[in-house]
Amino acid sequence: MASAELMRLWKLNQVDVGLVEVRLKAANLDVGKKIAAEMAELKKQDDEIGGKARKLQADLTDLEIMQKGIDEKIKRIDKQLFGGTIVNPREVENLEKEIAALKRQRDATDAKILQLWEVLPPAKEAAGKLDAQIAEKQKQLAERKKAALVERTALEAEFARLNKLRPEVVKGIGPGLMNKYEGIRQRMGGVGMAEVTRRHTCSGCGTIIAARSVQSLTEDKVVTCESCHKILYYTEGVV
Ligand SMILES: [Zn+2]
Repeated sequence: MASAELMRLWKLNQVDVGLVEVRLKAANLDVGKKIAAEMAELKKQDDEIGGKARKLQADLTDLEIMQKGIDEKIKRIDKQLFGGTIVNPREVENLEKEIAALKRQRDATDAKILQLWEVLPPAKEAAGKLDAQIAEKQKQLAERKKAALVERTALEAEFARLNKLRPEVVKGIGPGLMNKYEGIRQRMGGVGMAEVTRRHTCSGCGTIIAARSVQSLTEDKVVTCESCHKILYYTEGVV
């Protein structure tokens, strides 16, 4: 069996391993970067596809306004012609010519409008599909951010709990062993201890522990792994 001091140190190590895990989880917290990137890609597509639909719609509106303007002009000239005020044949002829020109203009506008009626619905549908996809991504992103906030709060609570626990666990560990442990911990990314497995390997790095080291461990001596230099914790195969 490990000495009482080493057992305390092992407990401290478990607290420190917990702190390392919490830090790692906090650093790797998924705040929706992937979803945001996918949304940015969709928005880029929308600039093109949605932009095309918006342009076609604007063209159609322009043509419809133009069509209305032409109709009004024709109506106005018709009124003049049949109002009985114009009697000069030359003037009548001119107005009739003007009406004929306006009607040609109207036919051309009608043809363009018909063309737009064909291409606008599919363009609008494609843009609408993209808009729906973007809205869905936005929803996903908001949900992920909300979940990340909950996860972060939980991690912060766990971090505070472990930090509060630490001074309690440190009690009963001599300064010599404590200094050694802290030195290793600092060099080894926050973890200063490793368990010896049943097959007498270091759980930290997998190195086989020499028989003489195992012997020392059974004598309650402080032994470090030859390879990763962590303090070994040995429970004679109990664990
Ligand atoms: Zn090791």
